[in-house]
Amino acid sequence: QLQKPKLILENGLRTDGRKLDELRPIKIELGVLKNADGSAIFEMGNTKVIAAVYGPKEMHPRHLALPDKASLRVRYHMTPFSTDERKNPAPSRREIELSKVIREALESTILLNLFPRTVIDIFMEVLQADAGTRLVALMAASMALADAGIPMRDLIAGVAVGKADGSLVLDLNEQEDMWGEADMPIAVLPSLGQVVLLQLNGFMTPDEFRRAFELAQKGISSIYALQKEALKNKYLEYKEE
Ligand code: ADP
Repeated sequence: QLQKPKLILENGLRTDGRKLDELRPIKIELGVLKNADGSAIFEMGNTKVIAAVYGPKEMHPRHLALPDKASLRVRYHMTPFSTDERKNPAPSRREIELSKVIREALESTILLNLFPRTVIDIFMEVLQADAGTRLVALMAASMALADAGIPMRDLIAGVAVGKADGSLVLDLNEQEDMWGEADMPIAVLPSLGQVVLLQLNGFMTPDEFRRAFELAQKGISSIYALQKEALKNKYLEYKEE
């Protein structure tokens, strides 16, 4: 698509039929992989990410181990079949950068000092990309860590807010991400009210920024409720077994 489409239609709805403040449908599945210590699939609309966690385990080679806390090794990656055109499977600069941003968010969330000298490996594979993959990947990782029983300060919930045809919109789709005036992914620890990731592409006025942040908070509380429910259901399953 070479020309900007209309992002907000005559009826005030978005190109995918959503209201300005409406999230895409969310689906969370825990424990989807047998061989990982924890795993999850997180879907937000057409964006779909699988995450796998291994550890905490002994760090090899030993000299890389940190004496006072666990190390995190984090990989965000898009599968070749996750986009319209086959994506080169070699990690791109974008994927290397997103791995770092996601690692930093996880480092401020996991209680790493409980596991000195160990390493925790976290893999995220984007199965289907339709905007918001960094946040869906981060949430998939957070759910996989919870599934692995690794202690955290809170779950991580996140959503992108932005501006499309001059209106603030919640949870951008790919067209809005590509053609909108602003794209701001935000991830927080909802119970603690702490921000662990915030980026902004494009432009907003300070007032728009405040309103966008509030809109994100609203979306995040709905997402957080679904995350807790997914964990509770998994726990009940274990209990029955
Ligand atoms: P995020 O996925 O976190 O929103 P970006 O803003 O960089 O990150 O990407 C927006 C969207 O653009 C992605 O979700 C994906 O749908 C699409 N995209 C990103 N990289 C590629 C790529 N290499 N090929 C095709 N589409 C891509």
